[in-house]
Amino acid sequence: MALDYARQTGSPTMLALALGNAADSQLRKGDFQKARALSEEALAMALATEDLNSETLARLNIGMAKIGLKLIEEGKREAIAAIGVDEAQGQLAQAADGWLELAKQLERFGDLPGAVLAYHHYRGLSDRVLRDGSRKAVLETQARFDNEIQAKQIEALNQNNQLKAEQVRTGDLRLKLWAALGACVVLSGILMALAYQRIRKTNQALALSNAALKSQGERDPLTGLANRRHFQSAIKRLADQGKFMGSVFLIDIDHFKRINDGFGHAAGDMVLVELAARLRAVVRDEDLVVRWGGEEFLIVVDGRQVAPAALLAQRLLDSIAQSPVHYGEVKIAVTASIGFANFPLAPHGVALTWERAIGLVDVVMYMAKAHGRNRAFGIASMDAKDAAEVQFLADRLEVAWRDGRVSLQALQGSLKAEEGGA
Ligand code: GH3
Ligand code: MG
Ligand code: MG
Repeated sequence: MALDYARQTGSPTMLALALGNAADSQLRKGDFQKARALSEEALAMALATEDLNSETLARLNIGMAKIGLKLIEEGKREAIAAIGVDEAQGQLAQAADGWLELAKQLERFGDLPGAVLAYHHYRGLSDRVLRDGSRKAVLETQARFDNEIQAKQIEALNQNNQLKAEQVRTGDLRLKLWAALGACVVLSGILMALAYQRIRKTNQALALSNAALKSQGERDPLTGLANRRHFQSAIKRLADQGKFMGSVFLIDIDHFKRINDGFGHAAGDMVLVELAARLRAVVRDEDLVVRWGGEEFLIVVDGRQVAPAALLAQRLLDSIAQSPVHYGEVKIAVTASIGFANFPLAPHGVALTWERAIGLVDVVMYMAKAHGRNRAFGIASMDAKDAAEVQFLADRLEVAWRDGRVSLQALQGSLKAEEGGA
């Protein structure tokens, strides 16, 4: 059936294979006639397709069939030739099988010497095949062994890597430990700094409250203005090497005795408090306002003043007189007289000590009183080259003014206050 199907396919390769197998089957069955015919057909097919493998198989089978048909020498020759081709092709296992088959066939059909020879060939060849197989197996084993060694080496490398990773991790841990330690040191440093800062703040607060106490000692209790004691220490900042630079205003309330007499001492106190507030409101925070005497105030503006002294004097006059001071139901009109000057003195730039500067301003303030009160007199310039000449002119200021050796600025206070005068 297989042979019929092979014929139907029309494939020479298939047919050659089927013919070979059919011939083999017939050889085993002992139908050597059929086996010979099938093998000869297979040989023709193998030659046509130039299939060497099928050709040798066909020739071997023809040889076998011929031995079976008692053509022993002829069959033996042809079989040996076919086996020789296999051997030459290096198909040793196939050749060995060929020898074994031939040996059995020769033994079966009485050629015992030929069979022995074939058995010897079979033995020799199968030994070689076995040797080759062993060698191959050894090589494979060797290869497997090599692979195992390699695997072991790889494993060893992996272990080494793991060890190294562990070492790195240990190093890492150590580093982290140091970092944590460093952070602790930094943190305690910060905490210490904070504690130190708190102590310093407390100290500063103490210093400030000390300063506050000091300023209580240097403050006039009635008006809250600086007193003479404070002035003594503050003026040093403004008097460079004893020479005073800046503007001085001396303010004396007009007829203050009358206020006391007319409304009572408490009303007089009230007027002092209110006027102190008005004066403070006119000048800048950094300007010095001092309660100089009973109803006298001194204002010192340093050399970097922004407004001209005369302008400031006018503002002072106005703020004192602009509205009466309220004492309960009573409204008390108040005016003041102001003397002022700018140091060093124009035009020659004569510098004075602060005592002499205030002494000079005191003289101009009395001139304002003498000229009608509620006004300010200021020294614009003085024909004096030194402190002695200033003193000389100050002692006779009225005459020197008329002679033109002293130039004065005279400012009038607001008239409203005079209308409602006490
Ligand atoms: P003049 O215009 O010439 O300056 O006249 P005056 O009355 O203002 O000047 P005088 O110096 O004659 O009087 C000042 C008065 O101020 C005398 C004093 O009793 C009073 N006095 C001084 N200190 C205080 C005080 O703290 N409170 C009160 N209520 N009166 C005071
Ligand atoms: Mg006075
Ligand atoms: Mg007075």
